[in-house]
Amino acid sequence: MAAETEIRTFLCRSDNIGVLIRDPATGACAAIDVPEAGPVLKALDETGWRLTDILVTHRHGDHIEGIPAVKRATGARVVAPAKAGGAVPDVDETVREGDTVRVGGLRAQVWETPGHCADHVTYWFDEARIVCSGDTLFTLGCGRVMESPPETLWRSLRRFEPLPDETRVFSGHDYVLSNARFALAADPENCDLMARKEEAQRAKAEERFLIPTTMGAERATNPFLRSNLPVLAKSVELGAGTDPEAVFVALRAWKDRF
Ligand SMILES: [Zn+2]
Repeated sequence: MAAETEIRTFLCRSDNIGVLIRDPATGACAAIDVPEAGPVLKALDETGWRLTDILVTHRHGDHIEGIPAVKRATGARVVAPAKAGGAVPDVDETVREGDTVRVGGLRAQVWETPGHCADHVTYWFDEARIVCSGDTLFTLGCGRVMESPPETLWRSLRRFEPLPDETRVFSGHDYVLSNARFALAADPENCDLMARKEEAQRAKAEERFLIPTTMGAERATNPFLRSNLPVLAKSVELGAGTDPEAVFVALRAWKDRF
């Protein structure tokens, strides 16, 4: 059996998450976004890993600002969404829906997941059961809708539905505590969610964060993935048979005001 994929997560800026994914068989290593050069270079230094690739999820400054410095230091290949146009610096390759990206022996499928912004992509490492969701799906939440109708983000989130429960989800920010507060307001009787909020508080106190999460945990506790349930419809004053998309739109609007 192939050796386990190696992963390192760390905080960048104030609440961005840095992620390094390494294939032990080939030594290839990818950074998912570069929110800030310093913490990425420090993590490489501490692990002794050699960066070969930078996979960009979207063009927002807090995901790409560290690219030029890290590229200079490591020579890593920069892979970015084609739809980001010229907004991402130092791009070597662009990707679109249906493309495959290789990091040594690891393989990721590219999904276009617009909603948070128009160029957003998600990287799904199907064999490793790892999904890098950027600012589309968060632990206990989802991205803010900035460049499209909320229905676009709903359709993007639905892409995650078939992923197996054990899939590890690496998102772009640590918003876990504020997401947990909203999730409980929307889904107050959910015992799994209550337990997760306590877990999130413990993690924060110990300077950890609940990233990665798993698809199984998100299906059980993330209100935005539970829009099909009567209890969520009720929380936004809609009837039990309401279209889940309409429930999602109402939940997203509520979260914006929360
Ligand atoms: Zn963003």
